[in-house]
Amino acid sequence: MHEYTGNMHIHTPYSDGEKWHKEVAEDAIRAGLDFIIVTDHNVWVHDIEGYFENDNGRVILLTGEEVHDVRRQPQANHFLVYGAEQEMSPYARDPQGLIDATNAAGGHGFLAHPFERDLDLFGGHNLGWHCWDVEGFRGLEIWNYMSSFKNEISRGLDNMVWRNGLLARLKIVRMALHPERHIEGPEPEALEKWDELLAGGRRVAVVGNSDAHGTPMSMGPITRTIFPYEFLFRAVNTHVLTPEPLSGDLETDRRLIIDAIAAGKGWVAYDMAHPTNGFRFSGQGINKGTMGDEIKLDAGATLQILAPVKANIRLIRHGEIVAEVQNEQNLTHTPIEPGAYRAECRIPFEGKLRGWIFSNPIYLV
Ligand SMILES: [Zn+2]
Ligand SMILES: [Zn+2]
Repeated sequence: MHEYTGNMHIHTPYSDGEKWHKEVAEDAIRAGLDFIIVTDHNVWVHDIEGYFENDNGRVILLTGEEVHDVRRQPQANHFLVYGAEQEMSPYARDPQGLIDATNAAGGHGFLAHPFERDLDLFGGHNLGWHCWDVEGFRGLEIWNYMSSFKNEISRGLDNMVWRNGLLARLKIVRMALHPERHIEGPEPEALEKWDELLAGGRRVAVVGNSDAHGTPMSMGPITRTIFPYEFLFRAVNTHVLTPEPLSGDLETDRRLIIDAIAAGKGWVAYDMAHPTNGFRFSGQGINKGTMGDEIKLDAGATLQILAPVKANIRLIRHGEIVAEVQNEQNLTHTPIEPGAYRAECRIPFEGKLRGWIFSNPIYLV
């Protein structure tokens, strides 16, 4: 298997982002990413896909779309589309219709930042997913770094009396200068919902992303970009495993990357806390497999988790911890029951244990 690191939720001036594709690609190369997928709001920008190269390396840029119903008030239900290779915004009005149309186009849909908190100060209400009676979506964006930041601000302001006052604004600026001191992991509700869907027998892949916009923020005379693209590309990413190495050919490599994302062959990584390259979660029963695979259970079946450095490692089945080690690099478990098993790793960073790796499941049958 070949490992690649990417970020798949990014905006440009085609919607509400600041930098154009070429500049975004340069930032991605600087941050060491292998692939990026630009997802502007309600517009699929084609003819820009391809490899971008400079002296420091290369990155493959693909385009998807973040679709939502602009007529819905309040706004919600943001839907990330990968691999449909066509404009999906005409289907935005009906969430189930959008999911069905995405599947019919050969694409894969992920519910973006599904759990958010209201943030009155900026008129920023909850943009989470509100229509849970849908089916057929490929997965969840369990960790969106910008959404995490917004939710942390919302929590931080909960105990303040004057939430619109100067002190609240100063607090937000302090948090924005060092988001990594505040963000601890995916929203717990997102992990709970994922476990609930898996326990119900659904196959649900996950991704983790930046939602980079590069928006400048002003505080009196000072204006600066609080979350530059490059900073975010070093934070929460998705790592995928492909059966063949990337070839340099756009069509071939798009297929390899999109297939891996859709099949859940990889993990959500907080690379800022420590690089997650080399992480592996695999299993052996009647057959062998890795994340996203189905393995047939037998009496001697095992699951193995290998972390790149010592971590607190958990093996989780349908929301229950079935095995756990502290400060180790390996966890091996002999499963008895069928079901969806996933791995979580935590490491200390900025003075606290932080969520670090959230693997896609292995499905034991
Ligand atoms: Zn969104
Ligand atoms: Zn977005």
